[in-house]
Amino acid sequence: MTDIGKEKKIIDIDRRLCIVCGACSAACPNEALIIEGMNLEFIPERCRPCGQAAIVCPTGALTCPR
Ligand code: SF4
Repeated sequence: MTDIGKEKKIIDIDRRLCIVCGACSAACPNEALIIEGMNLEFIPERCRPCGQAAIVCPTGALTCPR
């Protein structure tokens, strides 16, 4: 598991499960998750966190500790 936003422990992503579908990026109200080509980028300073991305992820790749 890759820990993105590790410094704040905001959200975890399992890159083995991520299919880069963009659902989390579309759901995030603060543009904290961005699709760049075939990669999912996370911008921790934009994350509240609200947990919406983890709810909509179809593969369970995202985990929001809060
Ligand atoms: S919703 Fe899940 S599978 Fe889709 S891009 Fe985001 S982390 Fe990856």
